[in-house]
Amino acid sequence: MLEQLTVRCRPKNGESLLSYLLRLANSNAIPINTFINSFKYKGREYWIQKAEYDLLCLFPNRIFDVDKLIMSVRISKEDVEKCSFHHLLKHFSRKENLANLRILSGFIRDTLHFCPMCLKENKYYKLLWKVKDVDICLAHECKLTNCCPHCNNIIFYKHLKKTALCPYCTKTLEESITAVPTLGETQFQHWYQSQWIFLMEENKQYIPLDELSLRILYTLNGERIDELSKDLIKNLLDLPGGAEKLLQHARGTLINSETLHISFLLKILNVLNSSFEQLFSVDIPESFHKAITEKNKPSRQVVAGETDIPKTGIKRKEEKINLVKKVLKEFIANNEQITLKNVKVKLGVSSGTIRYWGCNDIIAQYKKLQKEIQQEQKNALIRSQVEELFSRGIENLDAQYVYSCLGINRTILWRTAPDITAYIHDELKKSKRGEPK
Ligand SMILES: [Zn+2]
Ligand SMILES: [Zn+2]
Repeated sequence: MLEQLTVRCRPKNGESLLSYLLRLANSNAIPINTFINSFKYKGREYWIQKAEYDLLCLFPNRIFDVDKLIMSVRISKEDVEKCSFHHLLKHFSRKENLANLRILSGFIRDTLHFCPMCLKENKYYKLLWKVKDVDICLAHECKLTNCCPHCNNIIFYKHLKKTALCPYCTKTLEESITAVPTLGETQFQHWYQSQWIFLMEENKQYIPLDELSLRILYTLNGERIDELSKDLIKNLLDLPGGAEKLLQHARGTLINSETLHISFLLKILNVLNSSFEQLFSVDIPESFHKAITEKNKPSRQVVAGETDIPKTGIKRKEEKINLVKKVLKEFIANNEQITLKNVKVKLGVSSGTIRYWGCNDIIAQYKKLQKEIQQEQKNALIRSQVEELFSRGIENLDAQYVYSCLGINRTILWRTAPDITAYIHDELKKSKRGEPK
């Protein structure tokens, strides 16, 4: 088979690996599945399945023997790496395993989004089109389209047979009508796409997630070095469910070190009007690292500072309220459970004093806020589990099995996260209905 390749070509700029393999197979008149299977690892018993095509851009090495391809078409390993998210994953993790994929979980599309004009000009599919929320072609200033203009089917990557042709009705995809984006949408896409392009390129930098978290905190902290400023705590609280995650990552105390998600990083960078490029070039002073990793600075110190105010002055209630709030924010930032008892212990005061300061309601409010933050974290975890479960491509999934995998009752989940139960419902319906063949 390999000797039979009469036409050889190189990957084009920004082309996805599947697109490249399709072009090679097409120009040699070999069906794509037969073609890919000719690069099957020696000793692998089973054929490479179409469902595995979605992993080609993540771990080509796991799917087929990349060296065989390199030898038969005479391209370099770097050529193949550029067609995948290899460099992006390498920036954040040294290991090549499924766990490190979590950073991208739910963000790589399995259905084709494309610019018909790009297809007409270049006849290949771009890797960037696989990224969720990449919705505009900046070269042609049009929205990407996601279905065949003739049969209206949404096109799954794994069903593709020819570049620029619909696999279902075999008509050309180049004739799609596209919509014009708004100025705001285009501006956002410029920023958004440049983040991905930056990450997809090789820059020899590896930043483990704890270091990355530290850099984000430093940026959030207004680049002050010696202390966690009030701004930081406030900014952290503005990120639902984010505060603890970042702190835990920065301190290296997170049990699962791979749970920082790309969408979370992008959201923060967008809020901060920053970029991965800036984050990659930030230099963290040692003193800031210390300030962060000194876990749970004794809050007594804080209290002592406050009580050092000369006793001659009449301390106003307002000051006391601020003090209580400060401690409550620390509880949230350090992921310590807020209870009246814990607050009393931390402040070294009695229930009566708290009541006298009028702080019971404030404590209740923060307790509620903490609960919401924790719930959101839990849901984020469930969300990633659900996405992972459906990404396995298991056939005949049913609701009972899904919820038993998640270890949660449907009604209970529905109460706190109806979006997740709706998502599960839709996915199950999709798999029952069967995707277009
Ligand atoms: Zn285009
Ligand atoms: Zn079609």
